[in-house]
Amino acid sequence: MNIINRFIVSVFAVSLLFTAFYSCQSAQGKGSTDSCSGCDSGCRTGRKAIVPGDYAVGDPKKIRITNEDIIADFYSETFSTGTAMYVEICRTGSQAKKVSVTELYFGKRKIDLTEKTWGYKGLTGIDPECVQSRESVAIIYSLGGQKKQLNGMITLSRGKFPVNLVPLDLGKYSNVDFRLKPEILEYIQKCAEKKKKAFSKNSPSRIGNAFAHPRDAHYVTSHFWAKRAIMRYRVKNGKRIYLPKMIKVHRGLDLRGDFGEPVYAMADGIVAIAEPMYYEGNFIVIDHGNRIFSFYMHLEKFKVKEGDRVRAGDKIGLVGSTGLSTGAHLHVSLMIQDVSVDPLSILVLPVRD
Ligand SMILES: [Zn+2]
Repeated sequence: MNIINRFIVSVFAVSLLFTAFYSCQSAQGKGSTDSCSGCDSGCRTGRKAIVPGDYAVGDPKKIRITNEDIIADFYSETFSTGTAMYVEICRTGSQAKKVSVTELYFGKRKIDLTEKTWGYKGLTGIDPECVQSRESVAIIYSLGGQKKQLNGMITLSRGKFPVNLVPLDLGKYSNVDFRLKPEILEYIQKCAEKKKKAFSKNSPSRIGNAFAHPRDAHYVTSHFWAKRAIMRYRVKNGKRIYLPKMIKVHRGLDLRGDFGEPVYAMADGIVAIAEPMYYEGNFIVIDHGNRIFSFYMHLEKFKVKEGDRVRAGDKIGLVGSTGLSTGAHLHVSLMIQDVSVDPLSILVLPVRD
C-alpha cells in the first residue's frame, strides 16, 4: 500500500450531536417481472445497501453493451474517474445456447468475473488518474465451442478532487527524523510485510448481494483523492527547521465519528488484518475476494480478529484516533484490483448473488 494512504487527518474530532438511524435503503436497479434470461430480469434478490438515515442512495447509471448473444450491463454511480464499476453479463433472451464468458477487459485491465446461475458478475475501479474520456471494453466468450468477442466503449467523466495547499502539521509524524529511529523503521518494515502478504492473495469473490456504509452517520471530513500539503521539519537545538512541504494524495475517505462509535464492514469478506500498525493505528483489512480489499484505520478497538468471516453491515470495530491521526475519525479506503476508488461509490451498485 502506498505511503500516501497513511496521511490521515480529521479536523473534526467533535462528537456528533445528533443521532442518525441505521436503516436499509434500496440500491437496486428496477428489474422487470418477465423471464430470467436477460440482465434486466426480475430475478434480483439484492439484500439492499445498508446506509445511515442521513445518507441517500440514488440509482446507478447504466451502460449496456450487447449483441445477439450476450448482454453486458455496466453500472456506476457516475462513470467518473475514482469510482467503482459493477458489471453483469448474461446471454440474451433469444440465445438458447450456453454462453461461457472467459475474459473481460476494461482497457488493458482484466476484470475478474464470478459465475452465477444467471450469468457473470464483476467489480472494477475507474482509475482516479485516468485521463482518457473513453475506455474500451472487450468481452471474450464461447458459444457452442466457437470463440467470439464483443467490443464496446464506456464514456468517462472526470472526478472532482479537492486540493488543499495549506501545510498540515502532523505533529511527530511531520518530524522527518522521527521515523528514522531503528525501532520505528523495524516496526514500519514489519507492518509493510504483513500488508504485502495480505494484498498478494487473490481469493475467490466473497461479495454477496449487499454493500454497507461503514458508519452509522454520514459526514465526510476529508474527501477521496484530495491533494493535501503536509508540513515537514527537523528539530535542531530545540528549534524546528522547516523543509519544503510535501503534496500527498488522500487515497481514502475520512468520515466523522467520536471515540467508541461503530464501524461496519462495507461488504462480505474475510478479515485479512486486524492489528495495530505504525501509520494506520488499529487497522482492519477485509479481503472481499477477486483482489478487492477495504481498509479501516485509526480504530479504538477491534470487534473482529484475523480470519473472521464478516457480512456487509457487521460491526467490526470502534472509531478511534490511533496511528497517524489528529482526532477521532474513520479513514476508510477501497482498493479494487490495485485501483483506489471512492469507497462510498460502491453503495449504489445493484450487486446480487
Ligand atoms: Zn484519511
